[in-house]
Amino acid sequence: MLEKRAFYINGAWVDPVQSNDLQVIDPSTEEACAIISLGSDPDTNAAVAAAKEAFVGWAETPLEERKAALKRLQNAYNERAEDMAQAISMEMGAPIDWSRTQQVTAGSWHMDGFFKALESFSFEDDYTATEKTLKEPIGVCALITPWNWPMNQVVLKVFPALAAGCTVVLKPSEVAPLSSIVFAEMVDEAGFPAGVFNMVNGDGVGVGTQLSSHPDVDMVSFTGSTRAGIAISKNAADTLKRVSLELGGKGANIIFADADAKAVKRGVIQCMRNSGQSCNAPTRMLIEDSIYDDALVIAKEAAESVTVGLAEEEGRHIGPVVSEVQYDKIQGLIETGMSEATLLAGGMGRPEGLNRGYFVKPTVFADVTNDMTIAREEIFGPVLSIMRFKDEADAVSIANDTVYGLTNYVQTQDDEKRRRVARRLRSGMVATNGQGFAQGSAFGGYKQSGNGREAGRYGIEEFLEIKSVSGWAAE
Ligand code: NAD
Repeated sequence: MLEKRAFYINGAWVDPVQSNDLQVIDPSTEEACAIISLGSDPDTNAAVAAAKEAFVGWAETPLEERKAALKRLQNAYNERAEDMAQAISMEMGAPIDWSRTQQVTAGSWHMDGFFKALESFSFEDDYTATEKTLKEPIGVCALITPWNWPMNQVVLKVFPALAAGCTVVLKPSEVAPLSSIVFAEMVDEAGFPAGVFNMVNGDGVGVGTQLSSHPDVDMVSFTGSTRAGIAISKNAADTLKRVSLELGGKGANIIFADADAKAVKRGVIQCMRNSGQSCNAPTRMLIEDSIYDDALVIAKEAAESVTVGLAEEEGRHIGPVVSEVQYDKIQGLIETGMSEATLLAGGMGRPEGLNRGYFVKPTVFADVTNDMTIAREEIFGPVLSIMRFKDEADAVSIANDTVYGLTNYVQTQDDEKRRRVARRLRSGMVATNGQGFAQGSAFGGYKQSGNGREAGRYGIEEFLEIKSVSGWAAE
């Protein structure tokens, strides 16, 4: 059993002030695989104080030196990629190949994106011949992250914050803290000045709330559920700190009759990847009337081709969902779906051959309408809801009829229609015809999917204040 009780504060590993152990559960076996500590007020205060103390020095460190430190961190990350893959696989159940090729590489991909963005990023502009606009680091940042894409989220926050000249306190998810402990070891190896990066483990009601309301924290950058995003915003309101939120989603995947032949299958697979635990997953598949029946045949076959297995096994299967809480929630929603709609594939209980672990059957519901619970709630498991639409206006109206607005998807070979629909969708991202996004493109949501933008230059801007200075140059 791994024992990882220490926090990383002011450039050193320190024991918690009060002991408060938490077992980390391996979702493939339901057994404890590690012990961490949940921090309390004095730990949070020590980390924030260290970050505050380090701020002025780090903010004034030349950009080239900050970048060099981040480069050392990237080198450490790449050198220990296998340790990272194993940690992620153990803590959140990602199959080891998926962990190596998607979870870990998501982190290095974003690091490259930030270095690229920094090449042309200007921290000061001439607004007029005499007036200067300075972009300055906002200060001490609390970074609160979820368990589903642990390094993707940690890198999307730590890199731009440190590049901008902020100092940080990272609080990773208590459900999946092991990868962030490895990450903190890499930060230590990279040799940042003490206090620039700090990490305290803890839960939402403890360290999460302490950071959100702390008077010496200038900004909270949060990724997680809409529920927690609302709580953080309320807790942060008394000190009016900046709150940047990346929250849930219920993405619509609009498949027109003239979509390419692979669109339905691609949509099903995309919904199931990472065991359905992606905020940007296309979980509502909208099919045009004329191809609806044929699409159901393809969707059923596609879902039944998705295999489920242990995280430690190599291969292209999906793993368990992260925890008992998530498993129970998903089972409850599948049960609700069975009373609301038509079950096309999967259903309740574990897949055949698996008698322990939080494994969920890849499940598809047909004949869903947008008022049903399974169309409205973010299920966060391998569960797809398929519904039909009459025409373009109907599709856009169904897609937009949700509190969320993170990623929507459009599949049609008609260029004009694709662009028209993309403009009318109320979401921060619209992915069309299976095309991925470029490195550094803005990631974030409309409506209750949040208010922040991460990655590349947009991600760096989140951590900056803007200062106007008159008379910078003589008249
Ligand atoms: P969660 O909200 O339960 O937890 C996320 C983090 O917030 C954890 O570190 C947790 O300890 C902390 N937290 C919880 N309550 C808090 C509170 N009251 N105050 C401060 N911190 C608190 O979410 P989760 O279950 O870990 O992650 C799944 C959710 O994250 C899903 O809703 C998913 O859509 C969302 N997500 C969004 C994005 C995005 O970029 N939009 C990316 C990944 C995940």
